[in-house]
Amino acid sequence: MSGRLRHYVCGRTAHDLSAMFRGGAHETREFPSGVFLFDRGDGTRVLFDTGYATGEWNIGWRGVLYRRLLPPTVAPADDIARQLADDGIDPASITHVVLSHLHPDHIGGVSGFPGATFVLTAGQQRSLAAPRLRAGIFTGLLPSWWDEASKLVLADDAFRDIDVSGVSVWAADLLGDGSYLLIDLPGHAEGHVGALVEGRMLLAGDAAWGGDLLGATDDLRALPRAVQHDAAAYRRSAALLQNLAAAGIRLVFSHDPLGARELLD
Ligand SMILES: [Zn+2]
Repeated sequence: MSGRLRHYVCGRTAHDLSAMFRGGAHETREFPSGVFLFDRGDGTRVLFDTGYATGEWNIGWRGVLYRRLLPPTVAPADDIARQLADDGIDPASITHVVLSHLHPDHIGGVSGFPGATFVLTAGQQRSLAAPRLRAGIFTGLLPSWWDEASKLVLADDAFRDIDVSGVSVWAADLLGDGSYLLIDLPGHAEGHVGALVEGRMLLAGDAAWGGDLLGATDDLRALPRAVQHDAAAYRRSAALLQNLAAAGIRLVFSHDPLGARELLD
């Protein structure tokens, strides 16, 4: 397999680590919102997440509350469709958009891909059907054509037990050739998934705040723990990811700062 995986930053937020983790450093850390484009080389182009929405968020007081808790920094140039176009990639050529979960910093750029097939898990579909403030789901951030968009909803039985370098994971083979496995990583949000690309790099979404913070999951303070959909599952997913890392799988989290554009080189 010889596809390409490209990384884009679509807005960012910043937090004091000591407010997030017990024993965390008094350090304001910037958390970029990553978007990842897998190009299989045969016309199949899969986007993983879409970053923050640029411009106004028409979601009323809930949006004000969210922005106060997790203040985003986002400029018009951060829009993922625009960045792809600037990079010589026609946004209309994106065949699939996978969403790790439906928080604002992951669905903000959905509007740029009206022709793509959106890949959703059953859990994500459930949270969309009954969006709750505590779950951080704001359907007002989705475009007007969302209901009519092409969607592939993966029922729970689309996932099966797959061995990845000796570690058992619950996975769905999106493209049918093993090049792009959606990996069940529950806990952070309902229906949260990652993607294992070409068997070697795992896009782990928000299963942790960052690669170096994976081991600190038990030290999350009360508030950041309370906003996890299922704190126990979140810890189990972190343990699974640590096993995969030990088995040689490279983990990349949505909010990891990455220096490189090309990730599979
Ligand atoms: Zn999230």
